[in-house]
Amino acid sequence: MYNYHVTVERLKEVSITDYLTGLYNRRYFYERCAEEIRRSERHNMSFSFAMFDIDDFKVFNDSEGHLAGDAVLKEIAHIAKKSLRADDVICRFGGEEFAVIMPQTAKEEAFVVAERLRNNIKNLVTCRWERFPNKHITISLGISSYPVDGNNIEELIRSADESLYKAKATGKDKTVIFKKTTNLYDSQK
Ligand code: GH3
Ligand code: MG
Ligand code: MG
Repeated sequence: MYNYHVTVERLKEVSITDYLTGLYNRRYFYERCAEEIRRSERHNMSFSFAMFDIDDFKVFNDSEGHLAGDAVLKEIAHIAKKSLRADDVICRFGGEEFAVIMPQTAKEEAFVVAERLRNNIKNLVTCRWERFPNKHITISLGISSYPVDGNNIEELIRSADESLYKAKATGKDKTVIFKKTTNLYDSQK
């Protein structure tokens, strides 16, 4: 009976964990995000959300090999966990993309957390490389907040993604906060 119980616990753990990094997986991210939306709605609170993605990771893999790439992913996960606060939830969203839920956090505060994370990764990743041309391993981040930038998970992801895209398009190694672009033409109609 006892063993059976342990097995169920272990299964639950495996089902919400990413095997490579030990972070929560995408499935768990959706669960927690839905929970956070419900909680914030009930208490009339906001929360922030960040998506981040490793810069030039294809170049890294191509020059240093996939195993070295896996080691970088693990190290980034470790540094990210240590850089965030106890209530923040970090998940591996996809290959080299990560998502962070920051409960009860305004956008400006989320920006400070994101910048700390970005700097820690830039300064602390110690994996050695010989062929990768960049001096540091860096990440770019996009931030959105509930409810101003999205009332549901999909919208929040879309807004954060748009900011992340902007960070990539304007030089990488930076954090961009989502801002609704007000279309002058539309607003004058
Ligand atoms: P950008 O700076 O615009 O983000 O460019 P990028 O090269 O990082 O982005 P791109 O989407 O072109 O490449 C992502 C790379 O991430 C390619 C893929 O092989 C690598 N990747 C995804 N998952 C894993 C993984 O689990 N292990 C390793 N080693 N590499 C991975
Ligand atoms: Mg990517
Ligand atoms: Mg990338």
